[in-house]
Amino acid sequence: MINNDNLLSVQGALEKIKNAIRPIQDIEIIQIDSCLNRILSEDVFSPIPLPPFKSSAMDGFALKESDWVNNADKEFSIIGRSLAGHPFEGAVKKNHCIRIFTGAKIPEECDLIILQEQIDSLKESKVSFLDHNPSETFVRPIGHDIARDTIIATKGQRIDPILLARLSASGIHKIRAFRKPSIGVFSSGDELVSAKTKLKELKDGQIFESNRPFLLSSLASFGVKVIDYGNIPDSKNLTTKYLTKASKTCDLIITSGGVSVGDADFITETISEVGSLNFWRLNLKPGKPLAFGEINGCRILGLPGNPVSTIITTLLIANPLIEHMSGGIPKTPLKLKATCKQAIAHSAGRTEYQRGKYVNQEDGSLIVNQQGDQSSNRLSSFAGSNCLIEIPDSEGDILPGAQVTIIPLSNLGFLEQ
Ligand code: AMP
Ligand code: MG
Repeated sequence: MINNDNLLSVQGALEKIKNAIRPIQDIEIIQIDSCLNRILSEDVFSPIPLPPFKSSAMDGFALKESDWVNNADKEFSIIGRSLAGHPFEGAVKKNHCIRIFTGAKIPEECDLIILQEQIDSLKESKVSFLDHNPSETFVRPIGHDIARDTIIATKGQRIDPILLARLSASGIHKIRAFRKPSIGVFSSGDELVSAKTKLKELKDGQIFESNRPFLLSSLASFGVKVIDYGNIPDSKNLTTKYLTKASKTCDLIITSGGVSVGDADFITETISEVGSLNFWRLNLKPGKPLAFGEINGCRILGLPGNPVSTIITTLLIANPLIEHMSGGIPKTPLKLKATCKQAIAHSAGRTEYQRGKYVNQEDGSLIVNQQGDQSSNRLSSFAGSNCLIEIPDSEGDILPGAQVTIIPLSNLGFLEQ
């Protein structure tokens, strides 16, 4: 068995990254309609209570509870109405009521809504109700949703559509957010051409590349500033030249390929020589050769070239790194237990993440199926997958029926299934 004892775990690598990177501190003021995906640089408090006035939860009639209790006939005079956005202006006196609708302001003196379903008879301006006590008041008091000066969101929170809705509801039209990091993306390898290259122009030994399109689109969903630097040829000089140039513009450079020890692998060596290497290689399958360091103060993450390795290391390492660098709080991936349907061969020594598909059973438990050959070049192992199956380094082969840990892909960043 290969000795992987001194290799960093994913957790260990994330700790090192956290210690090495000081998150971006620059602050920008952003209008609410542009703040999706931005990271708050301060706590946000509601300047108003929500709802800002006492309002009705249902369609019905607003009246005084004391009148309801004392009025044996349950008959009331309708003296007006209150609609959402059009409050009733007058006063509601003894045995009076107003017609009211959901979201409308309730007059100060009223404290009970009788639902329209409880009408016994309705004639012109008189209404009488069936005599049974309402199950609740259907009154939404001021601040029922959120009280004035209550915290709505905290520093470091990423603004998603729900948080955006909550901020808008409190009338917050500007927020303070950390500057977006600039992230440069390179692929590397003489064999790589873009998918736009015509098939007949493809030379022997060349392949269409997938890592850069993956990384660019994955980063786009983070709302960071992305710079596409193209491909680095397999040359030491050009690797040095390209990385040095990009390091002067970017907060982070992400490369793929060229991090191993082959004759055409120059990324790790260049980071060591031109900058400094923080760590290289992880106790991870796929994704063992992974380099992290800096050049001219710009952080650089060298991901392995095999397409599955690039994706797995993006999900497990690059995504939390970017969240941390952006001033956010990397989320701890949700891990679930599922029954594995087939046998999975695994030699102890490296923590492995296989692609799987989990489904719910009728009893609420989960089962998971590995999605075909798990070689690190096989992007097809992601076809139909919705999770990673985590096999710890200490474990050997998985037997059919064993309980395994799974991480839904939707919990690892951008991939919604
Ligand atoms: P390397 O680490 O550069 O030796 O690359 C490992 C494997 O990943 C090789 O088979 C490469 O052709 C492949 N590879 C590297 N970069 C890419 C890329 N951007 N897209 C698709 N495959 C790649
Ligand atoms: Mg290469």
